[in-house]
Amino acid sequence: MSLSRTRAAKVIERCRELSRITDVPGETTRLFLSRATHAAHALLLSWMRQAGLETRTDDIGNVRGVRRSNASDTSTLLLFSHIDTVPNAGAFDGPLGVLLGLAVMEELGATELPFNIELIAFSEEEGIRFSFPFLSSTAAAGGITHDHLRRKDAAGISVEQALRDFGLNPERLGESCAFSPATFAALEVHIEQGPVLEAEDLSLAVVQSIIGQSRLRLRFEGQANHAGTTPMPLRRDALTAAAQWIVDVERFALDHKQLVATVGRIEALPGAVNVIPGTVELTLDVRHPSDDSRHAAVGVLLTKAQRAAELRGVQVKATVASEQKSVAMDATLAASLAAAAERAGYPGRTMFSGAGHDAMILAPHVPTIMLFVRSPGSLSHHPDEAAREENVEAAIAVVIEWVLGLRQGANDS
Ligand SMILES: [Zn+2]
Repeated sequence: MSLSRTRAAKVIERCRELSRITDVPGETTRLFLSRATHAAHALLLSWMRQAGLETRTDDIGNVRGVRRSNASDTSTLLLFSHIDTVPNAGAFDGPLGVLLGLAVMEELGATELPFNIELIAFSEEEGIRFSFPFLSSTAAAGGITHDHLRRKDAAGISVEQALRDFGLNPERLGESCAFSPATFAALEVHIEQGPVLEAEDLSLAVVQSIIGQSRLRLRFEGQANHAGTTPMPLRRDALTAAAQWIVDVERFALDHKQLVATVGRIEALPGAVNVIPGTVELTLDVRHPSDDSRHAAVGVLLTKAQRAAELRGVQVKATVASEQKSVAMDATLAASLAAAAERAGYPGRTMFSGAGHDAMILAPHVPTIMLFVRSPGSLSHHPDEAAREENVEAAIAVVIEWVLGLRQGANDS
């Protein structure tokens, strides 16, 4: 086995080792500041120290390691991803980016660079425990408020209390979590969690933008009535109106490239076998790389809902539950990362991310870029989530090529 393949195998083995540290035996479940998180931190810190990094845990629980440059310039390159998980998770969503970053540092060995490299393993990305995602990158970006600290988990423990129980100091969040103001670029490596790279038989792609999303709740209101005595033409069936509209949503998204639209939850009331459904509540999730196109699509879909309702004498009301703008990654870094991929012998494919990531929290504060690594079977948030050695090997090679290119850029400027 080649040295680079061996290094990729080690990244995968470490992800698997980390995945065995869990709060729930038999699966991988490691929520923010949980008991298992202590053990995961200890293991990660030991790996970082073996690699010669200066380590610490900041006051939101992010594990950090710095590779110091001998240069007088203290500018810093940031590599990051997260190590919390969803319940019953796989081994790679998050940890792959952290351990790949560590592998890059190990591979660089004694190579002198004119900048420091900091590796951050964010402690809370998925947002399971406090129903709030990206808490730890929000802390790194200086955005934690008292409202965040007062949020409570299912057991009634606040973020502030959970931090103290873990041995952290919420009063020091600002100073201990902020990334260095001398950070000139930030890279998150992450599994794709989708089928695009697998379909194109590619190892990796540069993420140019994290797409925006609109979430809405719709309520179709008809008339519940007897399923036996109400003739078909006299019904006001909220569920058939909603069903017709759901198919309209699918058709519309199929006809518009890059648009994805999903009705993910539906409830029909009163929900009895012999009663015509009088009320239907459902959700709509709409995503598109362009915010304008997304807003336009939502408008059209709501008009279609109105029409589907009117056809059956049903009323429909929609409320916006959340709106998230699309976040562009840094164009200069996207170009340099795609060029590094080409130099390393891989196509410089670019794509959008349909899922949210810590990168979109950092992007407004520091030039940020993401690299996606192929997801075999496109499975994620699932125990069978996987990563292949050849794809990880490609990603390590591309990141090293990119880092060495940044050195060149730094020398030129
Ligand atoms: Zn993730």
